[in-house]
Amino acid sequence: MNIHTPAPVAEAIGQLKQTLGPKGWLEEESDTLKYRSDWRGGHIGEALGVARPGSTDAVSAVVRICHGAGIAITPQGGNTGLVLGSIPTERRPSIVLSLDRMTTIRSLDADNFALVAEAGCIIKQVQNAAAEVGRLYPLSLASEGSSTVGGTLSTNAGGNNTIRFGNAREQVLGLEVVLADGTVIDGLNTLRKNNTGYDLKQLFIGAEGTLGVITAAAMRLMPLPRVRETALLAVPDPEAAQTLLARARELSGFPRAH
Ligand SMILES: Cc1cc2nc3c(=O)[nH]c(=O)nc-3n(C[C@H](O)[C@H](O)[C@H](O)COP(=O)(O)OP(=O)(O)OC[C@H]3O[C@@H](n4cnc5c(N)ncnc54)[C@H](O)[C@@H]3O)c2cc1C
Repeated sequence: MNIHTPAPVAEAIGQLKQTLGPKGWLEEESDTLKYRSDWRGGHIGEALGVARPGSTDAVSAVVRICHGAGIAITPQGGNTGLVLGSIPTERRPSIVLSLDRMTTIRSLDADNFALVAEAGCIIKQVQNAAAEVGRLYPLSLASEGSSTVGGTLSTNAGGNNTIRFGNAREQVLGLEVVLADGTVIDGLNTLRKNNTGYDLKQLFIGAEGTLGVITAAAMRLMPLPRVRETALLAVPDPEAAQTLLARARELSGFPRAH
């Protein structure tokens, strides 16, 4: 990399290498290029390297080391964001923290309509796992073959089913998050009737990684629709479209998610 590395930064990189092992730390230009390039291909950021931790504890260790050395962190999921949030752009020592090795679905409770997935799980993977037990993970967007749980929550992504089921925010029951000093908040709650204290998870949803790194999420599921019908309807003006939508909601018995 072309960035001047002061002593504490070089020391921190040594610690990162030791903590993460060869699979977990990339620094060759050719290895890091895809993590530093934005989806549209117009921007390439600079980074000391790419950390690819395989567990929440490893994420915590990475964040603690970087915090101590003043190294900036850009968390990254599928890198499908279109606003340069997932690539490092600052002229200061920084790393990309990719969640692409944290791809385990930790639990799936069909009876409780809930699953817990690690942040690097691809949305399609979550949809498929839910469908296998007759459940629907309703978030659906054109990037679902590459975008991740952590990325969609950090951007509060919408998509094709937003009117019926809400944005990513509406799917979340609880989060596990690593804070800037390495502290792990374990809030992987799947209880619907949870009325205790502050709803901390809401701070991290839509925050683009500015307040912490999401490492796992508990998410609600829906029954898998038994039948799908598609209709193409022509309406004369926007008011007619609104009336039609309201009528469809009345007839289908589905309230809007929000
Ligand atoms: C073809 C296409 C269609 C799309 N359609 C839609 C659409 O319908 N609706 C929509 O809302 N968006 C859409 N997008 C944009 C993009 O897919 C979404 O923003 C998606 O949520 C990004 O997920 P990602 O995993 O790729 O995150 P990334 O692009 O990797 O990251 C996005 C942001 O989240 C942060 N972040 C990532 N992971 C974490 C984490 N674990 N913890 C903390 N912060 C994190 C990053 O730092 C960055 O700020 C589309 C993109 C493409 C390419």
